[in-house]
Amino acid sequence: MLAAFYKEKGKPFVVEETDIPRIGPDEVLVEIKAAGICGTDVHYWKGEFEPAHIPLIIGHEGAGVVKEVGENVKNISVNDHAIIHYVVSCGICKNCLEGNDNRCRNRKSIGHDVNGTFAQFIKVPARNAVKISRAVPIEWGAIIGCAVSTAYHAVRVSGLEPGDTAVVFGAGGVGLHAVMWAKFFAAGKVIAIDLIDSKLEKAKRYGADIILNPMRDDILEIINKETEGFGADVVIECSGSTQAMIQAIKAIKGKNLFESGTLVSVGLQTKPFQFEYWGLREGWATVSGDHTLSELHQIVKLVENGRVNLSESITHRIQLTEIARGIKLVESKEEHVERVVVNKFT
Ligand SMILES: [Zn+2]
Ligand SMILES: [Zn+2]
Repeated sequence: MLAAFYKEKGKPFVVEETDIPRIGPDEVLVEIKAAGICGTDVHYWKGEFEPAHIPLIIGHEGAGVVKEVGENVKNISVNDHAIIHYVVSCGICKNCLEGNDNRCRNRKSIGHDVNGTFAQFIKVPARNAVKISRAVPIEWGAIIGCAVSTAYHAVRVSGLEPGDTAVVFGAGGVGLHAVMWAKFFAAGKVIAIDLIDSKLEKAKRYGADIILNPMRDDILEIINKETEGFGADVVIECSGSTQAMIQAIKAIKGKNLFESGTLVSVGLQTKPFQFEYWGLREGWATVSGDHTLSELHQIVKLVENGRVNLSESITHRIQLTEIARGIKLVESKEEHVERVVVNKFT
């Protein structure tokens, strides 16, 4: 089978032939039909992140068709469509038992510790293959496994209450869906911020009531005006930009020292930053990472029942041998690029 390997820090991934993995009794073999390229993969490409060991097949968003199941597997069958859940958890540590399997003490991440989804086939523990109806486009499955679910988790941990004003910085793959979920969970007003107007237009179609471009708009003044000076109840920072992070903290502060909301940082910050002491008074800041397996099952139900529509989320489709072009598209932050999906693996 063909697969994209991380072999050397800061060097392009190498696409080459390798053996199809052999499954154990509790594992399944999935033929990947779609694998999303995430901002995290760009960090790997640039050598800002390194996998736990090399060489390693990279990629953590994927969906496909189950080809083989081990003798103990009960939750999924051959020919089922499945989303890959990229957090392999132990199920018995304290965090797992409390439902926080995304923080499993013995966690292994697909595409970081074990071989990932940029390959024609992947083997995963049975519970990491989450069944999804054949009525749902299989490529949606790929982005549900990260871009959609990361945003879902971020909105849930924000504690957003009905009627709250939610501000989302960065309307890319994750941010666009954060807008969608904020609306879904009954935000009173959703404000989307991005430097690219086409992304803002799409954010509007995904539920943003107000769209702001910092190149043109005084975003803090407008957020204060829209919240009667209280500042945003919830801010979800998805861009990963340090500048945006500093603005995000100010956006929850409101007009005096006694107001503050909740800030959820999702976009990976790769540089240190400082912020004003009073910016978080009685407020709350958290770094939200991965979703839980239970949340992934919830999202699958919502998508299967038509409660959310992902038809505009994927903008580019490439074959595995074009992975360099795919990474560049994601990195370029160009107009009209949301999620890029690999859909040919031969
Ligand atoms: Zn991802
Ligand atoms: Zn665990």
